[in-house]
Amino acid sequence: MLPIIQGQQTPRQARVSGLPVHVGAPDGKQLVAAPPAPAQSGRRPTRPGDSNAHPRHSPALDSLHGLVLGDAFGDQWLALSVDEAQARYAARELCPAPWGWTDDSAMALVLVRHLAEYGEVHQDVLARGFAAGYAADPERGYGPSMHRVLRAIGEGGDWRAVTSELFGGQGSHGNGAAMRVAPLGAWLAADLDRVAEQARLSAETTHFHVEAAAGAVAVALAAALAARSRGTAAPERPDFLLQVAELLPDGDVRSGLRIAARMPAGTSVRHAAAVLGSGYRLSAPDTVPFALWAAAGHLDDLPEAIWTCLGGWGDTDTTCAITAGVVAARTGLGGVPEHWLTARETFPV
Ligand SMILES: [Mg+2]
Repeated sequence: MLPIIQGQQTPRQARVSGLPVHVGAPDGKQLVAAPPAPAQSGRRPTRPGDSNAHPRHSPALDSLHGLVLGDAFGDQWLALSVDEAQARYAARELCPAPWGWTDDSAMALVLVRHLAEYGEVHQDVLARGFAAGYAADPERGYGPSMHRVLRAIGEGGDWRAVTSELFGGQGSHGNGAAMRVAPLGAWLAADLDRVAEQARLSAETTHFHVEAAAGAVAVALAAALAARSRGTAAPERPDFLLQVAELLPDGDVRSGLRIAARMPAGTSVRHAAAVLGSGYRLSAPDTVPFALWAAAGHLDDLPEAIWTCLGGWGDTDTTCAITAGVVAARTGLGGVPEHWLTARETFPV
């Protein structure tokens, strides 16, 4: 089993220290008042609660609630010592309640509310929504670079300039765009091209780097495929991962998914995490392939998917958020023990 601390800092320690780790992660607990609808949106806004929208959008809400559960579950382990975490994991002993959720959930809520309002991504509005959510509740575990990005946008900066200036002009390739996006994939699941396009647009508002966007596209596509698979047998893990990979641009995220798809059925979570990475670098390529590998192996069992993902350690709030957001798009939360749900901090939706 991998130690929680691999080399130097855990992701949480890095965040707290403020050292220049390559991250991306914003937040927004209490959503801002909805801004005016952009002109010529051309789409009728829908809300998950609308009777017309409910059948189509319930996978998106399931994905959101799964994401929040995974985020809250995974984050608790980052506060434990290595010894305690290992012992609890071996015994499958849950962390004490309450399980607070983090920036992953807060930003996913901003995104889902944005889709409910506009039906698609309007980047200027979404960037301001992320910034306003951050301003309302900044202590949700955002990465150092996202503190800077969201403050700057909140102060009126143009998101294009703010995000493209990071890391010597490369932009952040952190996992922050991927961690929040699963519900978008479930929402738009009927059209995979549209899922990819909208996921990319949502990513760019905070993460300029192409790999960060590719990570978000991969997660959204996985959630879309999971939602589309409802009512049918779960796809095989290799098929599921390859289907996502084939729809991605060439790059590290795509390569990671193809490697994950070739892993034999009996591959241990420890080996998968060691090969693919599990978020120690807080980057999309180091996070997304592993999280989707964990999801793809347990598409009919949300708790097992979350436990499996946890066993890779690393950036556990984000890996578990991604895994659970994808699986819940297929399963919903019906198979989750009640005491897990009550342990999770109350969420606004
Ligand atoms: Mg987080």
